[in-house]
Amino acid sequence: MRCTKAIISRENLEFNYKNIKKIVSQDTKICVAVKADAYGHGAVETARELEKLGVDYLAVASFEEGLELRENGIKASILLLSLCTPEDFINLFKYEITPLVFGKEFISLLDACAKSYFSCNERFSVYLAVDTGMGRIGCFPEDCGEEAKLISESSHLKLEGMATHMALSDSVSCEGISYTKQQGEAFKKAVENVKKMGLNPGILSAGSSACAINWPDLHFDMVRPGIIVYGYYPDEITRDYLLSKNVDFQLKPVMTFQTKVVAVRHFKKGMSVSYGRTWICEKDTCIGVLPVGYADGLLRRFSPGLKIFVNGKAYPVVGRICMDQCMIDLGDDSDVKPFDDALIFGDPSSTGCMQTAEDLALLGKTISYEVLTCVSKRVKRFWQ
Ligand SMILES: *Cc1c(COP(=O)(O)O)cnc(C)c1O
Repeated sequence: MRCTKAIISRENLEFNYKNIKKIVSQDTKICVAVKADAYGHGAVETARELEKLGVDYLAVASFEEGLELRENGIKASILLLSLCTPEDFINLFKYEITPLVFGKEFISLLDACAKSYFSCNERFSVYLAVDTGMGRIGCFPEDCGEEAKLISESSHLKLEGMATHMALSDSVSCEGISYTKQQGEAFKKAVENVKKMGLNPGILSAGSSACAINWPDLHFDMVRPGIIVYGYYPDEITRDYLLSKNVDFQLKPVMTFQTKVVAVRHFKKGMSVSYGRTWICEKDTCIGVLPVGYADGLLRRFSPGLKIFVNGKAYPVVGRICMDQCMIDLGDDSDVKPFDDALIFGDPSSTGCMQTAEDLALLGKTISYEVLTCVSKRVKRFWQ
């Protein structure tokens, strides 16, 4: 078994989920985003755990992601967050995956396809996507009444709910806060427009993780957290904001990304490490070789700067990260031996790795979402 692997903690997943349950009211539903292979943690296992915890909905980004869950016995409701094309329609019906829809043409096409699939009194649930300012998918609030009417007057569709998405709910700047408020108001207006048509707007859902944490007023009937379930704040601003407000909300990173030192080699002053000879030994030293590289998700741009933890101590990655390997400088008096565990990121409270995916994200000028989803297929996931 390859020593470069990701350990996924059931305990931490449960810890995070239960903490999220605590910050939403008892009757607020939770829809957990398990798209992108559950942010790199493994969609099927994650979905199984969440089902055990009583999750209301799971969210995916493509029909195939939903199919993988169904083929592995996941029974929970599944929401498809991205738009699909008509080739997928039949499959949505067959595997009971609830799509977000908007646009007269799209709704009509879906209904026409549903007509060929369902018997006359069956109806297929859809969510009306509303664009309140994210600028991605959804109808504009002023068109919601018409589009909801189209759904309700269709032959085989049923409006199960309405969903929107926030562009700045993780921002604590004045502009950010006022934009989110504006989006919330626009969503309420959209809902009013549907009610004015004499229609029931169904389950209302506006927000992802940032919204679940920062915006209790915008929880409506269902929140859609993703990143916090996996143990990370949407960004460092939210975390600092919570700390400054003394809000007790804890998260634990669910994934530990690790490998082993496979060789310890003595290098003389003047010798170089890796492609491009970007790092030259300034004095005699020991170099540890790790079988992990950018094809595993250890992005090339993490070096220089990245440190790896071996036996509780941090060692710098030196030279360029290769596709499958990288090297760390152990210095000349280290007790690191071949086959010692080398930890890349994880939960500092339980792993001896004092850095998280967020630290790597800062280093690589990205967000924890990307660091997690970049951990590639080659890295086997082990649930513990
Ligand atoms: C990905 C996604 C979410 C979850 O986002 P997080 O920031 O990870 O909580 C929620 N809703 C929609 C529409 C999404 O695309």
